[in-house]
Amino acid sequence: MEPVYESSLQFLRGRRVAVIGYGSQGRGQSLNLRDSGVDVVLGLREGSPSRARVEADGMVVATVEEAVRNADVVALLIPDTAQPEVFEKQVQKYLKPGACVLLSHGFNVHYRCVQLPSACDVVMVAPKGPGNLVRETFTAGQGVPCLIAVERDCTGNAEQLAMGYAVAVGGMRAGVIRTTFREETETDLFGEQAILCGGATALVKAGFETLVEAGYQPEVAYFECLHELKLIVDLMQRSGLSGMRHAISDTARYGDVTRGPLVVDDHVREAMRRVLSQIRDGSFAQEWVSESQAGGERFKRLVEADAHHPLERTGAKLRAAMPWLATGAGA
Ligand code: NDP
Ligand code: MG
Repeated sequence: MEPVYESSLQFLRGRRVAVIGYGSQGRGQSLNLRDSGVDVVLGLREGSPSRARVEADGMVVATVEEAVRNADVVALLIPDTAQPEVFEKQVQKYLKPGACVLLSHGFNVHYRCVQLPSACDVVMVAPKGPGNLVRETFTAGQGVPCLIAVERDCTGNAEQLAMGYAVAVGGMRAGVIRTTFREETETDLFGEQAILCGGATALVKAGFETLVEAGYQPEVAYFECLHELKLIVDLMQRSGLSGMRHAISDTARYGDVTRGPLVVDDHVREAMRRVLSQIRDGSFAQEWVSESQAGGERFKRLVEADAHHPLERTGAKLRAAMPWLATGAGA
């Protein structure tokens, strides 16, 4: 390991980290921190259903307030929508002066949903992958790449702490990129809205509907539009667009380069710019915070409507014949 990484890790090892929340990121990050020799305590809410799991994993557990009171670094790893209230009521007033607040996503800081005390450091270490992968790759000697950013540095140590944390969770093995809270937040939202979640699901649905409307069997349309997507995405992740194109037939390659731009045309690019501008001007954040505070009824209805889409009914039937897919072993 490069000396600067080693010294940052040593710096973190001399401090106590409170990880609040034992969900996807909370579990993955805290187990990696512990195995990297960092002093970690879990902060859980009263009556938390995660307590048994934390104890079974051999981790030290306390209430949120206790964990914060004794910590030099407080990693707030609960859902973004829950962070403002928990921060205000159970974190802020218990923070040691000069403590460091660490987040894995910039949303609440960038959109000013939390009031950060002026006497603390504020940093981000954002793994670019879900918490189970943060853990699985770490135990396999690999890591998930991380973004790191410093929003506020009161102590002069914020950068070193963030770096040490990124090393300890395994991010340095895969690569760490320095960014800002603004860049991480805006690109993360854009990625999940336009490409990874929103874009991909809408593309799959539109393709499926087009084939079924034209009279093809839903089962065949499902394999074509959803199931095989994974094979292509795996190839792209492994070796880029060119590597993927190398692996497919020349007919597929010709169709790719001539027809792809017809589907994702100027109209789609314009829609992407609109999505990005609603992220940048804060109107998406405002809409989502209001929706969530109002109980999220419209949000639930939209998710529910898609759960009954013919694509989902067809998929459930076909996947039942391939039970290995559910374990993620079907690559
Ligand atoms: P999860 O939804 O998995 O967090 C669940 C945990 O939060 C549980 O332990 C739960 O407690 C706890 N929790 C929920 N509400 C409260 C509350 N009011 N008080 C105390 N604890 C509470 O979160 P994620 O791991 O998905 O996200 C954490 C952060 O990481 C977010 O900022 C997110 O943006 C970021 N992130 C997430 C990624 C992901 O793939 N999931 C990827 C990169 C960043 P209990 O156990 O008691 O139910
Ligand atoms: Mg995201």
